[in-house]
Amino acid sequence: MAVVEGLAKTALVQELLSSPHQMLINGEWVDSASGKTFTTYNPSTGEELGQVAEGSEEDVNRAVAAARAAFDHGPWKETTPSERSRLLWKLADLLEENVQAFAELETLDNGKSVTISETVDMGLAIEHIRYMAGWATKLDGKHLNLSIPDTHAYTRREPIGVCGQIIPWNFPMLMAAWKIAPAMAAGCTVVLKPAEQTPLTALLFGKMIQEAGFPPGVVNIVTGFGEATGAPLAAHPDVDKVAFTGSTEVGKMILTASAGNLKKVTLELGGKSPNVIFADANLEAATGGAANGIFFNHGQTCCAGSRVYIEKKSFDNVVGDMANIANNIKLAPGMDDSCEMGPLISTEQLERVSGMVDGGIKAGATAACGGEVVSGNGGYFYKPTILVDTKPDMDVVVNEIFGPVVTAIPFETTEDIITEANNSVYGLAAGVWTSDISKAHKAAAALRAGTVWVNCYNLFDNHMPFGGYKQSGIGREMGVEAIENYLQTKSVCVQL
Ligand code: NAP
Ligand code: MG
Repeated sequence: MAVVEGLAKTALVQELLSSPHQMLINGEWVDSASGKTFTTYNPSTGEELGQVAEGSEEDVNRAVAAARAAFDHGPWKETTPSERSRLLWKLADLLEENVQAFAELETLDNGKSVTISETVDMGLAIEHIRYMAGWATKLDGKHLNLSIPDTHAYTRREPIGVCGQIIPWNFPMLMAAWKIAPAMAAGCTVVLKPAEQTPLTALLFGKMIQEAGFPPGVVNIVTGFGEATGAPLAAHPDVDKVAFTGSTEVGKMILTASAGNLKKVTLELGGKSPNVIFADANLEAATGGAANGIFFNHGQTCCAGSRVYIEKKSFDNVVGDMANIANNIKLAPGMDDSCEMGPLISTEQLERVSGMVDGGIKAGATAACGGEVVSGNGGYFYKPTILVDTKPDMDVVVNEIFGPVVTAIPFETTEDIITEANNSVYGLAAGVWTSDISKAHKAAAALRAGTVWVNCYNLFDNHMPFGGYKQSGIGREMGVEAIENYLQTKSVCVQL
């Protein structure tokens, strides 16, 4: 049994941590069909944080049946766009009223700084829900000017149906908001499966969804492991669409599983994003931006700028300054006000990151800083790390590390660097730092990535679509494109 006294400041979190963590199916909080539970941990200490209902295919089937009934027959079908908009707005208000509780729960379950949980994760989640509330009333079809005489034809934009949504642990609450808000705006129903490492904020989100007044069965939340709950959800014949965020490896499995009933699929997957610094850039801004591009969220970010390319004549200076920034980042438990970087999510992730760095060093790379586990306090801390002297085919240059580890690589010409930056199976994001406006836009056009940041990195706006080229994904989050994922077009043709 977890010891939870004194872990959180808000009474709501203390109360939640002292209660069982059940699943939300058809508007009711229930244990898993098997009665089994699994442990979620506090990565800052390695201690147990709580026991969570461990779902299986039976629970997925119940949740999908509830979502199917709510979509096909429930009152949800009759809600007007303006009612859906008001429900979403109410939900955002409830999140805002409870923002401290959400931030504390996120930090305890995930490890990130509580200040970041509140200002970044929750701030973006709340605004995203409000942004999508605005779209609910603006989803129009159009009149079609046919060449067949005496016809009247038009399109309708209709909700796609029951959506299975599977999300990762790096931004648990934000990913839940990115998934649920557009689905609700479009009029779909949902079965959400949070990651096993971080199920708690999704469950609190479920409580707020109920309090806001969404009808039973419209949003269902099933907790459990990927193979036992995510896989049957992705394969379920009554699920019309699956939206997944996570590793490219599992993304491919989702695509295969969806083939049975030809579900619509959107995938937001991994990356190995290049951040290119030209010598004519504002180097102070570029250095800070490149450090933030990789060290934000401990590098556990799908769009992390994990390959930094620096024009040769500025290489030593930029790497030296980035190492200086890295060495001064304060590692601490997320609930500690001084925390600038918390622990990694799990022992598995700590082993994976340290194993990849050790492998890189063995293969000839040098750590300009970091390269070490911080041991002693039970938490999963890893020092921010910069690797130099790498070769293009090294594992640390080619594959996603998903930790606070960047490879810094010198380059000489613009042509070479675009080719090298694009030399990846991934294409999620890229950064360009230069004061030459022509060079900036040419590079932005030539980089094969879903987002290119120029003289900035990691800037997100709800109106700016985000998603991957190549093996970084299918479809987009945010912007009107995210809603499009949850709609389908019907043509209506009338002979007059
Ligand atoms: P993952 O296995 O892809 O997990 C993402 C989600 O998929 C989780 O909810 C997971 O459930 C679920 N899942 C796992 N296997 C499944 C299956 N066969 N069918 C359906 N759902 C399944 O990612 P991870 O293991 O947590 O992390 C591994 C690597 O993925 C990281 O090192 C990183 O490279 C990458 N990653 C990328 C992102 C991103 O935003 N692009 C986010 C997280 C991780 P459980 O967690 O309960 O098993
Ligand atoms: Mg946890």
